[in-house]
Amino acid sequence: MITIKNFAFPKSLEEAYRVLNEKRNNVILGGCAFLRMTSKRIETAIDLSKLDLSHINENDETIEIGSMTTFREIETNPILNKYFNGVLPKSVENIVGVQLRNIVTVGGTVHSKYGFSDFITALLSLNAEVTLYKQGTVHLKEYLEQDTKKDIVISISIPKTNRKAAFQMMRNSRSDYAILNVAVSNEDNDWNIVVGARPQRAKIAKEASKYISQSDKSIEEVEKAALMASEELDFGDNMRASKEYREEICKVLVKRAIMEVL
Ligand SMILES: Cc1cc2nc3c(=O)[nH]c(=O)nc-3n(C[C@H](O)[C@H](O)[C@H](O)COP(=O)(O)OP(=O)(O)OC[C@H]3O[C@@H](n4cnc5c(N)ncnc54)[C@H](O)[C@@H]3O)c2cc1C
Repeated sequence: MITIKNFAFPKSLEEAYRVLNEKRNNVILGGCAFLRMTSKRIETAIDLSKLDLSHINENDETIEIGSMTTFREIETNPILNKYFNGVLPKSVENIVGVQLRNIVTVGGTVHSKYGFSDFITALLSLNAEVTLYKQGTVHLKEYLEQDTKKDIVISISIPKTNRKAAFQMMRNSRSDYAILNVAVSNEDNDWNIVVGARPQRAKIAKEASKYISQSDKSIEEVEKAALMASEELDFGDNMRASKEYREEICKVLVKRAIMEVL
């Protein structure tokens, strides 16, 4: 059970960042779905709900998602259902149930860089960028590789293009974490093949993505790209699946996702 000594409701991001860094055990609150499962002793819990960070907007070039946006909003938003074949709504629609999706946030998810995350896998396939208060804007790909520092995720930005995308995952049971998730996208023969829950963090299969971009997309080439993805990425064991099983599942899900995009 978490213990919270004080609550702060900052009126600006500047104030939120200052309070966050005042003490080691001051933390930002997202939807608290994960935080409340820990036994953290929080000195000051920082609630961002007064900072207008819950929104999904489009402009000429990008789609912007505020960090306090919930997964239920991602799932039901018309803009996100219109672009990229609805890959972002599809990536979250199987996460536990509506009650959980009504509270979990984009910021809590992206900041935590969970290996099992379905949403991060889909975001990575769309060349998303993350904007943080201190660090500024950084490609999600780079952000996932960095050590996590005390900072505030403000928003996610996705290039608004005609990119086609597909999301595939496999779970042992409906409300469990995925044993593997895959997102594939393509725009003008620029393909991204992303595999997450390996169980490590989502990663782009660079060689497989390059191969499929340059191929004629025959069924043999699609199968070869799927095999290449399973060979170039690392997989591991956990209580849900073995490394070898994940490698096999990777070939199947990558093939299905490429076929879906085609
Ligand atoms: C029972 C359960 C099952 C789940 N199953 C799945 C699943 O199958 N697939 C899946 O993809 N996900 C799953 N999740 C994870 C979920 O989707 C969220 O990713 C997770 O709960 C974190 O979101 P949150 O808003 O609850 O963050 P919180 O619990 O509030 O915060 C998590 C961490 O992020 C920090 N934080 C929060 N917001 C910000 C911010 N804006 N800037 C900086 N730091 C911030 C907090 O300080 C904390 O350290 C599950 C979660 C639970 C509780």
